[in-house]
Amino acid sequence: MFSVAIDGPAGAGKSTIARSAATQLGFIYVDTGALYRAVGLHCIRSGISAEDTQAVADCLEKITVELAFKGTEQRVFLCGEDISDDIRSEAVSMMASNVSKLPVVRQLLLGLQRDIASKNNVIMDGRDIGTVVLPNADVKIFLTASPESRAKRRTLQLEQKGETADYDIILEDIKKRDYNDSHREIAPLKPAEGGIIVDTTELTLEQSIKKITEIISGRIE
Ligand code: C5P
Repeated sequence: MFSVAIDGPAGAGKSTIARSAATQLGFIYVDTGALYRAVGLHCIRSGISAEDTQAVADCLEKITVELAFKGTEQRVFLCGEDISDDIRSEAVSMMASNVSKLPVVRQLLLGLQRDIASKNNVIMDGRDIGTVVLPNADVKIFLTASPESRAKRRTLQLEQKGETADYDIILEDIKKRDYNDSHREIAPLKPAEGGIIVDTTELTLEQSIKKITEIISGRIE
């Protein structure tokens, strides 16, 4: 099996770029953030605080989180319910970031991610794919961009969907999540050893996709 790890901060374009590259290469695209979001959504729905480690650990024994793939489209299930559309709010983003600090959560999701990569050619995106989940991935990419350009892209995305978007709040959230993700004790966000760093601040989406696809294709040959 061939595996590509794409890590990087929120809003660097990982999912759009990885999905497009996966389609072109015939790989499955795995968005691992959806798994942390599923746990985050469950905690919000159940009124469990991420600070209450014991309550989170207890709830993990009662829930199931699964991924299913239809072509290159991924759906995520929480206890059998398709929650793919419910996990995209800012509240779930922040809760996902908070629960992702807990070893018990990371441990549960680690096996699931490795299992998928052992059975499929994958492009897997997340924060710790190249460093922890698949340290022997064939290609490891760290995709980044300045916080300001990421906040600008996110604001535009929300506006295009007809939702209200406040650039300053989004920028604040992005910086908070960056800090959370790169300062946690386990599996912090950082470039993997031997990984390639790609900064998309000055690149258009098309240019970023082209660059990533070329890097991967070069390694396949
Ligand atoms: O990528 P996405 O923004 O959907 O991820 C939501 C949150 O899940 C991130 O802020 C991060 O805290 C966590 N996450 C993680 N490890 C991953 C993927 C996501 O800790 N591999």
